[in-house]
Amino acid sequence: MSILGKEHLRANLDEVIWNIEQARITVSEHHIVKLVTVAKYTELENISTLYALGQRAFGENQVQQLSSRMHTLDDLPIEWHMIGTLQKNKINNLINTRPTLMQSLDSIELALELNKKLLAKERKMHCLLQINAANEESKLGLSPEEAFDIYQRIKESCPQINLKGVMTIGAHSKETKEIQKSFETTHRIYESLQKEGASICSMGMSSDYTLAIKCGSNLIRVGSALFK
Ligand SMILES: *Cc1c(COP(=O)(O)O)cnc(C)c1O
Repeated sequence: MSILGKEHLRANLDEVIWNIEQARITVSEHHIVKLVTVAKYTELENISTLYALGQRAFGENQVQQLSSRMHTLDDLPIEWHMIGTLQKNKINNLINTRPTLMQSLDSIELALELNKKLLAKERKMHCLLQINAANEESKLGLSPEEAFDIYQRIKESCPQINLKGVMTIGAHSKETKEIQKSFETTHRIYESLQKEGASICSMGMSSDYTLAIKCGSNLIRVGSALFK
């Protein structure tokens, strides 16, 4: 971790934006992709610098860091995303931070618990359902087979949760084909959920975001490529 200069960060950001542009036009001129900067491994100063360079959406994977950074950067109109595993004992803390989007809703049990605590605080939260597209033991999230049904069950039984779509982490593999397959699987689920109101398909990180965009992602979560 180190504090990076403005020109250094500008060059990294330009490169990522250029790559996004190249990938998205292969889908369609009208395919718009949102860039969420994953700040979990970087210094607070780098967030402020990227903000000054025009970046507005940032993600964290721990409630505590999310909360303290939101607090410190309170005067900046930043959009904050929660992208990491949410422990049940941190639910109230997360609700108090009022994130723009909680991307890592990974089970029906968590949804029910979150809904209960949102109700108690008379609050709502925008969420994405996390899909474990390659059925990897190391990852949380719903299997592709159950994702559609669980999405509908959450919609029916959790009125405080506003489901906006799906999120996945690409298959952990050196084989591009395997990674692509996990994105295609997730995108198919996203398409089937569009009639249920899904509008966000969050896939792609530093190592695979151009591939993810070509598979239909409209939100990418990029960390290390911006802070190298
Ligand atoms: C850390 C993380 C990212 C960003 O990873 P990079 O490889 O640094 O771009 C994206 N999504 C999730 C869920 C993460 O935990």
